Amino acid sequence: MARTKFKYNSETCRYEPFYVKGKTLRKRMLVFILLSFMLAAGGYFWLNNYFETIDELLLEQKNQALKIEWDILRHRVKHVSKDLAHFIDKDDHNYRVILDSPPLSQSIREAGVGGSEKINHKSLKDFPEVLREYTAVEKLQHQLEVEVQSYKEINQMLDRKIAIWAAKPAIQPLSNKDLTYLHTTYGSRMHPILGFIRGHKGLDFSADTGTPVYATGDGRVKNAYYSESFGNVIFLDHLYGYETRYAHLSKFNVKNGQQVKRGEVIGYVGSTGLSGGPHLHYEVLYHDEHINPINFFQRDLNNQEYEKLIELASHPQPPLD
Ligand SMILES: [Zn+2]
Repeated sequence: MARTKFKYNSETCRYEPFYVKGKTLRKRMLVFILLSFMLAAGGYFWLNNYFETIDELLLEQKNQALKIEWDILRHRVKHVSKDLAHFIDKDDHNYRVILDSPPLSQSIREAGVGGSEKINHKSLKDFPEVLREYTAVEKLQHQLEVEVQSYKEINQMLDRKIAIWAAKPAIQPLSNKDLTYLHTTYGSRMHPILGFIRGHKGLDFSADTGTPVYATGDGRVKNAYYSESFGNVIFLDHLYGYETRYAHLSKFNVKNGQQVKRGEVIGYVGSTGLSGGPHLHYEVLYHDEHINPINFFQRDLNNQEYEKLIELASHPQPPLD
């Protein structure tokens, strides 16, 4: 049961029951409802501003993780760029220099690399930092492809160089220990048997009959036969334009068409054909032109061997063929 309120009446000097009128009651109720609504709205905004929702917390965590991944990615791109620059430098200034090849032009290295317009991800245009990194990665990818292709090319050039180095006549056809004299006469001279001036397009190595004769480079036996002037002679085809000839042999150690390696015994010193005594007549040709063989074997001699060679060649001896 509701309690009855009393109000003092100064006219009657008595406390009399007091009843709130319906109009006043409605006003108070309206004020109460309005205040309650304002309080609820304020509380809602306050909660929203000072406390994040679970979704917001999750998004924030995800954002942090993405930022860390982004930093790691940028660091890796920087690291790979540095490594690639090192490889490009080696390519241009070491490997290609050794292989007598010019460095790759900048236009080849830059070809195919565009700016941001090359990127199809239009949405990235709103994120310049991401777009910049994306462009850098694209450029890096292109440079890497060019460099991989360049290293393949270098590898092919190296294989060819190795094959040429292996094929090129580069050693003495006789061991220095077996040599008794080196006739360095190259060019016209009086032939000891024919008795007239004739060109001498090789070097003569005096040694005992049966001394091993070595192939001076990798190659194929083009011809091993007997000729009246050369006697038993071997022609070696070394490819890449080089050919060597070994004449006056006592015996062959190879057959026509056989592949030989540098340093392999192909025959033995003799005095067959037009020869004044046991020796090896050795010729080197490049693209069918004779070259003085002395330019092709000094490099494999040490100082003592070279001095012995000079000593053996210093006292004039009569020609042998
Ligand atoms: Zn000769």
